[in-house]
Amino acid sequence: LLKTGVRAPIKEGLILLSIAGGGEAVAERVSSLGPSTPLLFYLVLFSGLLACLLIAAQVRAAALRWSYASLLAVSAFLLDSYERITGDHLTYDAFINMVNSAGFAGDALRQHGEPIAWSLLISLLLFLGIALKPRTEWGLPALLRVSAPLAGLATLSLILFARDGEGARGLPAAFTPLAYSIILAYENQSGPAVGRRDVTLRPASSPRGDIVLIVDESVGGHYLDINSPTGARSGLAVRRPGIAIHNYGHAASITNCSVGTNVTLRYGGTRADYHRINGSMPSIWRYAKKAGLRTVYIDGQRTGGQRHNLMTAEELRDVDLFVQFDTVAVRDRDIAAADKLAEILGNRTAEFVLVNKVGAHFPVHDKYPDEYMRYRPVLPRGRYTAISDTGSRAGFGGAQEDWLRYRNAYRNTLGWNVGAFFDRLFERASLSGATLIYTSDHGQDLHERGNPGRSTHCSSDPVIEEGIVPLVVVEGAEARTLDWGQHLAANRNRQSHYAVFPTLLEIMGYRREDVRALYGPSLVEPSQDDFTFNARFNARLGKKPVWIPIDIRKIAVAPESRASAERSRSSDGS
Ligand SMILES: [Zn+2]
Repeated sequence: LLKTGVRAPIKEGLILLSIAGGGEAVAERVSSLGPSTPLLFYLVLFSGLLACLLIAAQVRAAALRWSYASLLAVSAFLLDSYERITGDHLTYDAFINMVNSAGFAGDALRQHGEPIAWSLLISLLLFLGIALKPRTEWGLPALLRVSAPLAGLATLSLILFARDGEGARGLPAAFTPLAYSIILAYENQSGPAVGRRDVTLRPASSPRGDIVLIVDESVGGHYLDINSPTGARSGLAVRRPGIAIHNYGHAASITNCSVGTNVTLRYGGTRADYHRINGSMPSIWRYAKKAGLRTVYIDGQRTGGQRHNLMTAEELRDVDLFVQFDTVAVRDRDIAAADKLAEILGNRTAEFVLVNKVGAHFPVHDKYPDEYMRYRPVLPRGRYTAISDTGSRAGFGGAQEDWLRYRNAYRNTLGWNVGAFFDRLFERASLSGATLIYTSDHGQDLHERGNPGRSTHCSSDPVIEEGIVPLVVVEGAEARTLDWGQHLAANRNRQSHYAVFPTLLEIMGYRREDVRALYGPSLVEPSQDDFTFNARFNARLGKKPVWIPIDIRKIAVAPESRASAERSRSSDGS
C-alpha cells in the first residue's frame, strides 16, 4: 500500500471522515453565528483550509508529504482530544495553558482513555489520508501542492492574530494548534524580554491576621440578595455576631471572561497598563511572602494538580500550600473549600489565602442538592454532576423557556454555592482577626431581555450584566485593618476589581502611597473608578481594549423567575 499508493477517492474519503469527527464543533459554530456575514466568512475559511488538506495529500515527494501528514495529525489530535475531554473550545488562552501544563499529559491519558482513543482514531484517519501515496493525480501545479498547507496555515495565523487569537472554533482541527504555536512563538520573540520583577516595596507594618481573597465563578452581582430584593440567598445579607460585612454593591469586573480577571487579580494589572503589569510585575503571593505571610491557594475548579487562569509553575512555587479536591464531587467542592478555609483560619499562622470557587458556571443543572431547589421549574437534573465548567452548550437549547429554567437553576446554585458556603464558613471559622474580600470573576448574561444565544459570558459584544460582580469585605472584630466605613456609602455601586489588588497590599502592610503609585487606589479611598469592564482583554497587535460602561439603572431583572418561585412555593404548600 505504501509503495503502490491508493486511488481516489480513498485519501479524500479518509480526510473527510476525520473532518466529520469534529462535526459537532462545526454545527455549534454555524448555529451560534446564524445567517450572517461572519457565517459566510467562516464557511469560506473552512472550505479553504479543507482544500489545503486535500491538496497537501497530493504532494509527490514522500518525505514532505509524510512531514505534513505528521504535523497536521498531531495538531488535530491536540485540538480534538482537548475539546473532547473538556467539552470546551480550545481558545488561544487555553492553548497557552495546555502548553504550560504539558506535564499533565500522562494524567489526561489515564483519566480520559475513551475520548483520547476517539481523537487518536480521527487523527490517524487524517494522517493516512495525507500520507498515503496518491495514485490519482489532480494535475495541480507542483508549487501549489507544496505550498497549499503552508498558505492555509499562514492565512489562519494572520486571521487569528488580528482577532486576538479568537475565531478558530469549528475550523479544521489540523490547523488551529499549529497557528496558535506560530502566534505564541511570535509573541515570545517580540514581547519585552524582561524577567518578572521582584517586590520592591517594603511593608511598613506586618499583618496580624489572615487575609483572604475569595474569587467566585460566574456569580452575577445583581443575582444576590445583598444587591437585589429578588436575589438568591448569599449568606452575607444577615448580621453575623463578631464580624462586620461591608458591601460595595454592584462592582465592575476586570473583564467578562475568567482567565483575564483571575490573572489580573493575582498580578494587579491596571486599566491603563495591565499587559505590562501582569507580564512583568510580582504576583500577590510574592507580596504576601515579603509581608511575612504563609501563602495558600485553594482551587475548587480543577483537580490532579492542574493549573488554570494562566498560573505558571513558576508562580505556583510561591504558594506554600496548594489545595484541590480530587475526590470531592463538583457539587460539594465549595462546601469543602469552606471547611478547608475554616481550618486554615483556625491555625495560628498568619496567611494569605486565595480561593477559586466552583461557583455557578455553565452547567448549573446539578450544582446544588435537591433541598436547595427553591426556584422552579429547573433544568433537567442528573447529567452534569461531574462537570465543574464547560464551554459546551450540549443539551441546552437556549430558547426563552430554557433560559427561565436556567435562571431558576442558577439561583438554586447560588443558594448553595454562595449561601450555604458562607453559612458553613461563618459557622465553622474563627474570623476574629481575619479580613476577607469576596467577589466573582465576571457576571452573567442570563438573557433576561430575551436576547438570543446560549452563552453566559466571554462575549465579544457583551451585555452589561456580564461585567457586574459582587464585591464585599468581611472583617473580623479584631482585624482592624483599614477604615472601611469612611467612604463606603459613596463608593457603593462605584467600585471595580481594579481596587482589589491595592487593597490586599494595604492590608498586608504596604504603604498606601507606594501602592497607589504602582497599582492605583484601594477600596477605602474615594472612588474615581471608570465603572467599565474590558470586552477585549487579549488586545494584541496594537488593538485597544474595548471598555463597556455599566449603567446600573439598566440592569435587567427577571421577574418570571420570582413568579415561578412563588408558584412552586404555593404548589408545594397545597
Ligand atoms: Zn469565569
